Amino acid sequence: MNKRSVRDLDVQGKRVLVRVDFNVPVKNGEVTDDTRIQRALPTIRHLLERGARPILISHLGRPKGEPDPEYAMDAVAEKLEELLGVPVKKLDTAAGPEAERTLNDWDGEGVVLLENSRFYPGETKNDPEFSEQLATLADLYVDDAFGAAHRAHATTVGVAELLPAAAGLLMEEEIDNLDKVLRVPERPFVAIIGGAKVSDKVDVIESLLEVADTLLVGGAMCFTFFKARGYETGSSLVEDEYLEEAKRLMGEAGERLVLPVDVVVAEEMEEDARASVVRIEEMPENMMGLDVGPETVEKFGGYVTEAKTIFWNGPMGVFEMDAFAKGTEGVARAVAESEAISIVGGGDSVAAVRKLGLEDEMGFISTGGGASLEYVEGKELPGVAVLPNREDA
Ligand code: ADP
Ligand code: MG
Repeated sequence: MNKRSVRDLDVQGKRVLVRVDFNVPVKNGEVTDDTRIQRALPTIRHLLERGARPILISHLGRPKGEPDPEYAMDAVAEKLEELLGVPVKKLDTAAGPEAERTLNDWDGEGVVLLENSRFYPGETKNDPEFSEQLATLADLYVDDAFGAAHRAHATTVGVAELLPAAAGLLMEEEIDNLDKVLRVPERPFVAIIGGAKVSDKVDVIESLLEVADTLLVGGAMCFTFFKARGYETGSSLVEDEYLEEAKRLMGEAGERLVLPVDVVVAEEMEEDARASVVRIEEMPENMMGLDVGPETVEKFGGYVTEAKTIFWNGPMGVFEMDAFAKGTEGVARAVAESEAISIVGGGDSVAAVRKLGLEDEMGFISTGGGASLEYVEGKELPGVAVLPNREDA
């Protein structure tokens, strides 16, 4: 990464405003999945070990620019304290005189967690006044919220322009891993794309086709490709507006784009629907394709085994229902067993991997979601672009 890193900063005795991604699921006042908090710990520990005073800020959910108890950071603070093992002082504001006063009185023990940044309308508007208020709270700024880097908000961009800024360790890891795959991949480079919609991922497919040796396509989106080829697709999820686009992509990719050979079909998308496997040429008119079939898993697995680099985004089927989860599971196991450099990204894909207990077998799990996809598309992420390059540091 050519961005200035938190490792390049002298943080001793400094107040460091750290933008983290603590946008975690909370139910009945408890954090139900603490993965994102866990992933932020290395940067927080790095700062604590070097005598800094970390002041953490994140958004949580989608409150409407005003305080809303449902989205307060208290549950996060509790979880963080438990994981970090040092006191977490949670403030009820994120900016303004009260936050300033509390921080001035702070004895410097442990870390401070500010209130939800989206309680302020200035956050999503990237309002200069709000950014200014945030900047007065600290001496330095560190961005460790890769998952929020595709949004130009006050806590990701505005305040980064006002304080000496650097990337946190997770941000650095995300960028380094994605770059490793996209810039100079070890070959063969196999990309696996699935999920519900072609429309979500046309740009990702386009960019991956520039670098990947093989693109394996599963999920609902394969049916748009099949229809574009003139196959029967029954009642599968097809995006008719994307048929031309699908044709163009297949033309561009030639044999590098690989589609399923068999699929799991059912009359409806129901857990207890009668599922059967058909060859893709024999797709019945009244059925929908809800997963890739066993022969496809074998075929895709063959590519995965040969690969030196793997990028996977999007489940192969409706993995939320057991009847249609085998395709995703098969591919996940193949990736887990592979010796290749592998990256898994995407909210649902990561959830599927986690459900299978295979997280630790994957090379790198991107926390990014939308941000990783935009990065793969080759877009510049505002939260990354704003950070100074190392040579300018
Ligand atoms: P990610 O979050 O990993 O990027 P997406 O959001 O693109 O993945 O897609 C995930 C969704 O796609 C899942 O909810 C899954 O049920 C759905 N899906 C996958 N295959 C099919 C299919 N054949 N028909 C309908 N939905 C599908
Ligand atoms: Mg998703």
